[in-house]
Amino acid sequence: MTLEHNVSEIAMDSSIPDEEKRHRIIEILSGLPERGVPAAIGHLMETRDGRVAEYVARYLQLIPDAREEKTRAAEHLRESGDLIHAAARLVPWLPESLLGQLVSDYADDPQPGSPLSNVLFSIAAYHPDLVRPIADRISSKLIRRSLLSGAPDELADALLARWHEGDEWNDLEAVARIRTRRAIDAIHSVRDELEDRLDWETLIALAGQLPDSDRSAGYHPSFMGFVTSAKVSPHTMGGAFPGPVPICIDCHAPAERVLTLSADELPMELSCDPSFLWYSCKCYALETVTVKIQEDGRLEKTFYGPQEVLESSAKPNHMLIPGLQSLTLERHPNQTGESLRAYAGWSRHQVGGLPSWIDPEPHPYCPECRKAMPFLTSLDSGPTPFGAMGFDGKLFGFWCDHCRISVTQQQE
Ligand SMILES: [Zn+2]
Ligand SMILES: [Zn+2]
Repeated sequence: MTLEHNVSEIAMDSSIPDEEKRHRIIEILSGLPERGVPAAIGHLMETRDGRVAEYVARYLQLIPDAREEKTRAAEHLRESGDLIHAAARLVPWLPESLLGQLVSDYADDPQPGSPLSNVLFSIAAYHPDLVRPIADRISSKLIRRSLLSGAPDELADALLARWHEGDEWNDLEAVARIRTRRAIDAIHSVRDELEDRLDWETLIALAGQLPDSDRSAGYHPSFMGFVTSAKVSPHTMGGAFPGPVPICIDCHAPAERVLTLSADELPMELSCDPSFLWYSCKCYALETVTVKIQEDGRLEKTFYGPQEVLESSAKPNHMLIPGLQSLTLERHPNQTGESLRAYAGWSRHQVGGLPSWIDPEPHPYCPECRKAMPFLTSLDSGPTPFGAMGFDGKLFGFWCDHCRISVTQQQE
């Protein structure tokens, strides 16, 4: 039995739990030549089983690029009827011509339970403009909510009017998720009508603007991130972090580096290489890791808690990132920002853009200049080609470029 047979057999074995199937199939494919792409595409072209197609497509979702191969597989899935649901995982890499065909396939027979509804859900998240023309034929509330991203001014006005009538938070959150100039203005217009100032700060940042200025709530453009081997990308994940690191005030376990971005390789004009660290323990003693970075990349200062230089023999007790890796970036197809609340555990990493919160909250304030901080990165839990991430939920990183201060916080 070859490894490739194994993938099909694991996917079809109903005695193996879903998580374990996902993990084992990733382990097999990531060990094959060319990051397992040719083998994965081969499975998608040959299989007639929906489970095999789904697990293999989930693997390809972890791998950057390979646009041609992913497009070829999606075209094949489109011809093979029910298996088309697996193409939902490949949507970020598909050309607009093919996506347009998939949208019209759905519009020809818009059934909520059809295998195409998964694909439409994904297209609505990454390319809401392609789905908007058929919005009136879509009954799924989730898909319609995805279409808030960049929606026309008339919808922002209508939702704001509905909020004035019914006072439902959901309507105001929907206005913010439109993220256009009109949506930002609408949220400004209700500032004095909300009792809790933090509610308003949450909404204005969600709409894309910081609460204390007219600055964007995120750095732009927005990139999707993929965990790749060390040095494939200049943005470093995991591994030893030189110099002092924050330690937990309860158990003294050292924090670990999750990500260092290379400023030179990003279009955002950052003043030094931002690093984001997180606790290796589960004490939850502090809500953030807040650190000031020197121009050479090391830590100058830790806020709210102690920092220590680790003995060279000191071993972290828990690996947040599976080894020393890098984060490969690809431009996000939806530069406005996705409108659905995020689910953790799907390996959806991001640099730039606006945060994709599990539950929206206000942005942190810089401890030095006291200004609200723009979002710079989020790292998701879930599998990587090198093993699973060692933290739960999602980590969100904010960056004050003026003070060179990063704040990392977690949502589960
Ligand atoms: Zn601790
Ligand atoms: Zn600052």
